[in-house]
Amino acid sequence: MATPETLNEHQPATALSEHHRLLIVDDDLAVRMVSRLALSKAGFGVTEASDGYTALSWLDSHKFDAILLDARMPGMDGFETCRKMRDQLNGDTVPIIMVTGQDDDESIDAAFECGATDFVAKPLNWRIICQRLNSLIGAGVVKKHLKSRSHQISSMLKTSSETMLLLDGAGVIQGTHQIERLPIGFRAQMTVGNNFFEILDEESVQLVSTAWATSQRTEECESFIVDYRQDEKQHTVQGRFVPGAEGEWLCLLQDQSALFSCEQQAFELEFKDAATGIANEKQLLSELGSRLRECRDTNTHTAIIRFSATDLRSFEATIGRGGMVKLAQAIVERLEIGLESYLTRLQAETLRPSHLIARLCDSDYVVVLSGLDSFEFIEELATLLLRRLSTSIDLDEHICGIDWTAGIADTLDAPPTTDGLLSATAYAIYSDCALPNGYRVHRYNSDLKARVHHDIEIERLLRRDIADGVLEMHYQPKFDLSDLSLIGMEALIRWNNAELGFISPAKFIPIAEKSGLIISLSHLVVEKVLDQIAAWRDEGYKSVPTSINISGIHLNTRTIVEELRAGIQQRRIPPELVELEVTESIMVDGVGKAFKNLNELRDMGIRVAIDDFGTGYSSLSYLKDLPADCLKIDRSFVQSITSDPTAEAIARAIITVGHDVNMHVIAEGVETAEELNKLAELGCDSVQGYFTGRPVSSCEFTSFFEGARLAG
Ligand code: C2E
Ligand code: CA
Ligand code: CA
Repeated sequence: MATPETLNEHQPATALSEHHRLLIVDDDLAVRMVSRLALSKAGFGVTEASDGYTALSWLDSHKFDAILLDARMPGMDGFETCRKMRDQLNGDTVPIIMVTGQDDDESIDAAFECGATDFVAKPLNWRIICQRLNSLIGAGVVKKHLKSRSHQISSMLKTSSETMLLLDGAGVIQGTHQIERLPIGFRAQMTVGNNFFEILDEESVQLVSTAWATSQRTEECESFIVDYRQDEKQHTVQGRFVPGAEGEWLCLLQDQSALFSCEQQAFELEFKDAATGIANEKQLLSELGSRLRECRDTNTHTAIIRFSATDLRSFEATIGRGGMVKLAQAIVERLEIGLESYLTRLQAETLRPSHLIARLCDSDYVVVLSGLDSFEFIEELATLLLRRLSTSIDLDEHICGIDWTAGIADTLDAPPTTDGLLSATAYAIYSDCALPNGYRVHRYNSDLKARVHHDIEIERLLRRDIADGVLEMHYQPKFDLSDLSLIGMEALIRWNNAELGFISPAKFIPIAEKSGLIISLSHLVVEKVLDQIAAWRDEGYKSVPTSINISGIHLNTRTIVEELRAGIQQRRIPPELVELEVTESIMVDGVGKAFKNLNELRDMGIRVAIDDFGTGYSSLSYLKDLPADCLKIDRSFVQSITSDPTAEAIARAIITVGHDVNMHVIAEGVETAEELNKLAELGCDSVQGYFTGRPVSSCEFTSFFEGARLAG
């Protein structure tokens, strides 16, 4: 089929296509013959009919592109034939050209009345007729095309889910189509005569007007999105302006609420933490990345604070996953409130940084702050938030006191990349070796990084040397203050590494505790000390209790009681020759098995001493609840006992209260005769320190057995 484009080409005396067929209806044979000659020459296919009836029967069986019909014919005339033809054609707009006499106005009127498309007057001018036929056939095709197009458009509109508003140049609604497809609230005022822009709310109107203006300027489609709330539900309508005819505009609208809520859900699944609704790791990384780029462009800085919970697993055992979700929500709430109130306060003094809270993993939360020149306040903020996090969280039946460490890193000191900043906070957190429940905020810098690297190296070498049993025990004597007789000793670990030399236990014990190496180290210590006690016994030395320092981590294990029971039974060691030194902090933590284990060990006959007493958190009134036989007054009080009245008062109180609850009281770190005398005066039971004897190897220690009694 010819396209409208090809039809528009101007080819006056030639038919558009040989396939265009004409029906010539005339009773005059001569006219028919001349017509056939002229029109065939012009390229038409010609069929003849000598009367109306023949013409109608041709029409029945054939399709024609145009009909040339004589008005005056005997029998059924041209007008009647034309009318019948139109009936038979049933809406087909095939052009019918009526051939009339010259200036026969009546015939011309009648021709149009009975459905003719055009007329030509006799005598016939074939050139004109050809041109007219061409243009009528062309127009017919275009018309058919347009008709099917408009049919297509209207069925498209019908099947489309879009609503259409017809707007005039000022935005007044001229017509609507499928308005019922819009959400009720939104369509309420979309009626003819209302101005589309006046219906929209303030927020949307700006956006839609911009799209409208652009559309008018460029004459192109321009889309927009309108959000509004109704009945607690968020609706999203997407629209576009399409230029229409004669200065009118189509506004096509579609309710996309379902789609957008799906998209929103997909976004949340991907970028939000399911339990708390805050940013998850993925969003943190992308957000941090874009903030870092922004800061580079604006010459400002970014800082992050990472809060890491030490052991959440022990809570999970009691509160379950459901409880863990509530716990996470409570943590986030504390962070949000704390951060908000701090930033509001800060705003008064400096600029407010832009911030984000994210959950990196089950135990780690990150606060991102960006857009400032410096972050002098960050440690204060971190300490404040850490303090908030550290107060116990009350979850229905369980009270959870979480042990937190905070690591800070900023682009002033750490590499200004996502990974650089986050791993800097990991360094900062790793550097933490403080006692449980201390406030622990660490800020990354290059010194800290070097220290952490050193610690990691220590951890590596310690692991190897524990496996090889390279570590040794030294022993420090304890003496009775009344007669200075040997009443016991403390086993202290010594590590002389082939590469690093001598490393103090004060340095490597916290590293072992943090890395979990402490358990195997502690096993090693217990084995070595029990072996030594048995060896001395076998060699016939005086039997005095030996104390072993036990880390809270080891004390909290399920197996410690059985381990010690088996150890002493195998070697047939009387249990009262073994004393465990534990710090009071494990009592305060109180949650785990430490208390229960200590009671079982004491029932077995093993003695328990509270080490470093006075530095922890328990008050003196709490003493009677401790499952212990002995108190060790911390070295810090002993050091200043002769110079600082407060230290003296504390020592005196510890001794008095200790005795009240039937405990043996020993002072550690005694370095001078004055300190010793003062302690004797205060009624302390015994002493340990450089003054009376440094820690020495097991071989050297035998001299203390032999000396039995110290020279005063
Ligand atoms: P601690 O339990 O308070 O041990 C006493 C520390 O004070 C020892 O340090 C000891 O050598 C030192 N000391 C003793 N008398 C004096 C004195 O008169 N003046 C001074 N300035 N210091 C004195 P050391 O051996 O370096 O041990 C440090 C800490 O490492 C110990 O503190 C203990 O907490 C831990 N530790 C040592 N050995 C073990 C062990 O086998 N297992 C565990 N878990 N921890 C251990
Ligand atoms: Ca000790
Ligand atoms: Ca101590």
